[in-house]
Parts: sequence; C-alpha cells; structure tokens
Amino acid sequence: MDNLLDGKTVSNHFKQRIADEVSEMVSNGHRPPHLVAILVGEDGGSKTYVAAKEKACNLVGFTGTILRYPDTITQDELIAKVEEINNDTEIDGLIVQLPLPNHIDENLVTQTILPEKDVDGFHDINMGKLAKGDNSGYISATPLGITMLLEYYNIETSGKHAVVVGRSNIVGRPMSILLSNSNKTGNATVTVCHSRTKNLKEVCLQADIIVAAVGIPGFVKGGMIKEGAVVIDVGTTRVDDDTKKAGWRLCGDVDFDTASAKASFITPVPGGVGPMTITGLLNNTLKARKRTL
Ligand code: NAP
Repeated sequence: MDNLLDGKTVSNHFKQRIADEVSEMVSNGHRPPHLVAILVGEDGGSKTYVAAKEKACNLVGFTGTILRYPDTITQDELIAKVEEINNDTEIDGLIVQLPLPNHIDENLVTQTILPEKDVDGFHDINMGKLAKGDNSGYISATPLGITMLLEYYNIETSGKHAVVVGRSNIVGRPMSILLSNSNKTGNATVTVCHSRTKNLKEVCLQADIIVAAVGIPGFVKGGMIKEGAVVIDVGTTRVDDDTKKAGWRLCGDVDFDTASAKASFITPVPGGVGPMTITGLLNNTLKARKRTL
C-alpha cells in the first residue's frame, strides 16, 4: 500500500542514526547511554513492552537494564529504589513500566523520578516544559515518536486542523500540545476529543489529521474520516485470536480497511506508532546522556 506510514522502517532509520552517535560517543572515550526499566509484577503486556525496550537498547549500543520486582514490593521500597537510581551517575534514564499494583501510587512514583532522568516525560516538570514549548525537557515517547514519523514523511501540520481523540497524560494530551506548539510538526489548529465529546463523527470529519488514542478497537471508522486525511492509530488492544500462536493479536483504534480507503496516509497496527514509541524513548535517553557529557 502506498499510503502506509511505515513505523518499522522509519524507526530503523532513526535507530541507525542513534547507533552512529553512540559509537562516536564511545570512540571518544565516553560510556554509552544507560537506560534502566523497573518492572513490577507479572503483567504480560508490561513484560513484552519492557523486553522490546531492552532489545532496542542493545541494538543501538545503549546499556539496558531491567530491574524486576514482585507485585508484593511496597511503595516505600519502590520509592527507595527510584531514589537510588536518581543518585547513580552511571544511569541516564529511568522508566517505571505502568501499570503498577493498586497499593502503589503511580503518580507519586512518577514524580519521584528526577526530571533529568525522566525519559518517559511523565514528570510534572517535563509536562510543564512541553506545555510552555520549552524543548529542554523530555516529551512522552509516543507523541514524540509520532512527530518523528510525521517529520520523516514531510507531512505538513502547519495550519491544518488536527483532531486528537483521547486526552490521557501519556498520549492524547501531550500529542495535542505538540501539534499546537510552534515547532516543525506543530502549528496546527487542534481539537481534543474525549468520552464527553458530542458529535464526534462531525468533528472528526473536519480533521486534516486524526490521532486516535482511545483504546477501543476499530473505534474510528472510514465514515468518520475526510477524504485525504492523515490517520495516526495509537491504539494497541489485545484481542483474542485463535489463529495466532499467542492466542491474541494487537488491534488498533482505527478500522483499518474502511479508513485506509479514505486516508492519504495511515499507520498500521502493528508496525506504525508502536516502533516509533520505542524510538522516541531511545531519543530521550540519548538526550539525557548528552546532557551529562
Ligand atoms: P486512556 O488513558 O484509557 O485514555 C483513553 C482516552 O480515550 C480518554 O481520554 C477517554 O476519554 C477517551 N475515550 C474513551 N472512550 C471514548 C469515546 N467513546 N469517545 C471519545 N473518547 C473516548 O488510554 P491511553 O493510555 O491514552 O491509550 C490509548 C490507546 O493507545 C490504548 O489502546 C493503549 O494501549 C495505546 N497505546 C499505545 C502506545 C504505542 O506505543 N502504540 C503507547 C501508549 C498507549 P476520558 O478522558 O473522557 O475518559
């Protein structure tokens, strides 16, 4: 398909650039970037995501460490671990894979990570910098990866009407801010939709760019898309599928068959936003390392 935004290929392109920078860094006598991921419990999705991040780290020459803890870890113990990593000058970036068990306050943990090491971009300082258009912080990896994808394909955002469906702190909200900020993949007029939005179909039909981050498989259908719009599908819901070895497959928030008939460009699931999210994370970790050089 010639309207596909191929996240896998674009991600490999950026990974190569990152790997080149790392090898230059190392040949100049510096240690490579070091990313630590904390994984609590046995959630299947979390394990898969963290393993993919570790693999990507190895591929570009980063040091990737996974710290695994049982879901019986107390909040105090987890906070103490985060503080230990904050003080470790050999570690550049820290991510705590969400969700955490119910007895742990996710926000407290996220806000304990030093903003300079918060390569997920979830800390209030980094969110605040994003909102102010200050590029010195870290941008949440998924929205960052999407902007890298838009930039790679030279997709014009300036003056366009972008509709972001979803307002979560990790995807929809930062995405809407990025698209409206005055940067290369910004300057759009942005509408943010959520579960209370009325006439969602009519709003989406006005969009030149739609970003779907809802978490409902096949939610955005072709009938909601203007001819020629750019469609970015963030959704990754596991749905049962006996034909797959794992017994499930990933399903996006966009009904691909009907939407791709209308879209000028569209991301597939899998192979669209997912690989770009990891690239966004690698980008942030490299930035964190460079700050300390
Ligand atoms: P979330 O925190 O559950 O947020 C979902 C958003 O969708 C909320 O803002 C919600 O509105 C809105 N929504 C729910 N039902 C709606 C409806 N009927 N009409 C309009 N809006 C509706 O989810 P998330 O963390 O942003 O993730 C969204 C999806 O992206 C999930 O499938 C997730 O797995 C996936 N994801 C993928 C990646 C990747 O790398 N590909 C990364 C992160 C997330 P309210 O605020 O009103 O509740």
